[in-house]
Amino acid sequence: MRIYADNAATTKLSPEALFAMMPYLTDCYGNPSSLYESGQKAKEAIEQARETVASCIGAEPKEIIFTSGGSESDNQAILSAAEIGKKNGKTHIVSDAIEHHAVLHTLKKLQTRGFDVTYLPVGENGIVDPEDVKEAIREDTCLVTVMTANNEIGTIQPVCEIGKICRERNVLFHTDAVQAVGHLPIHVCSDNIDLLSASAHKFHGPKGVGFLYAKKGIRLTNLIEGGAQEKGRRAGTENVAGIVGMAEALKGSVSRMEENGKKLTDLRNRLIEGLSEIPHSALNGDREKRLPNNVSFCFEGIEGEGLLLLLDDRGICASSGSACTSGSLDPSHVLLAIGRKHDVAHGSLRLTLGDDATAEDVEYIIRSVKEVVSYLRSFSPVWRDLTAGKSEFIL
Ligand SMILES: *Cc1c(COP(=O)(O)O)cnc(C)c1O
Repeated sequence: MRIYADNAATTKLSPEALFAMMPYLTDCYGNPSSLYESGQKAKEAIEQARETVASCIGAEPKEIIFTSGGSESDNQAILSAAEIGKKNGKTHIVSDAIEHHAVLHTLKKLQTRGFDVTYLPVGENGIVDPEDVKEAIREDTCLVTVMTANNEIGTIQPVCEIGKICRERNVLFHTDAVQAVGHLPIHVCSDNIDLLSASAHKFHGPKGVGFLYAKKGIRLTNLIEGGAQEKGRRAGTENVAGIVGMAEALKGSVSRMEENGKKLTDLRNRLIEGLSEIPHSALNGDREKRLPNNVSFCFEGIEGEGLLLLLDDRGICASSGSACTSGSLDPSHVLLAIGRKHDVAHGSLRLTLGDDATAEDVEYIIRSVKEVVSYLRSFSPVWRDLTAGKSEFIL
């Protein structure tokens, strides 16, 4: 049995996307900037993709710029808003503690350049309170950046309300919607969004391509200088096949969103119910306001890495909230932000189901996690101390 339950990390390329990409990886390899036929065909395909992407989020085609993915879109959105702010003497930014590193590290860079950043807390449920946003906005605030859905704990933020507050105060609003696009309904106009980041490989498109939505009138700062591609907002020969594949994947994901969302919500709820039976465990993030496929847990007395390796032996691909894979032993900033203690945050598990997940898969995952957690606890010194009463249980 192999179960891929790490769809927040990346997703499988959809067959339609691959099929749509093939001509641009083979015969139709012309440069979109060239005047002869194969170049013009590639250019037309890009413009068609722009229309498709725009229509999926309620934007206009000229408001979409193609990038290399979520990280680049986040960088460009935030640096552009900062540039606009600086010109108007506004150097304050509002964000929150559980953003993706593509946002947090960009904000950190701006802090070294004289910007002041307020990081709002999220509370135990992992959700930003719009009232906090309202209070944090100052006369010199140029940008609010709050993600649509969190990549670790899956919590969904009140983007529409936050956007409304920003509109009223005349502050730009950016949202990292990488986990949400193709999975949750998004309409940039009714959700009051000025800038939005997305990445194809999170919705069954290819890796290395994404897009940035920038409401018309917002002047973007380009990160890459060179040619006049993307109306001068991003230089470099376009990733034609990637862009075409992304549009096709998005169209497919949006058309199946409702059906998949319902099915996944039921499976997710069963998974949460099953894992909750493990003693001294806790669900991370709000029970209801979370992505339909996201389950994130902490188990006391174990290490996430051991859990992942043993689950891999049983054919289950999952992930942990700790950043050990990136060479750091720091627990996830997201788990710390929702109030998990260091020790507990190390024993975390994130399962993000795929569209093809079945009820049998879920039962198999529940059984496996239960067995693996007991096994790991059977020789954990931390667990021994807890059960011997030498230290106190947190969960
Ligand atoms: C994956 C992810 C990113 C980064 O996207 P890439 O396309 O891999 O650069 C940014 N933000 C969130 C919330 C993500 O989940």
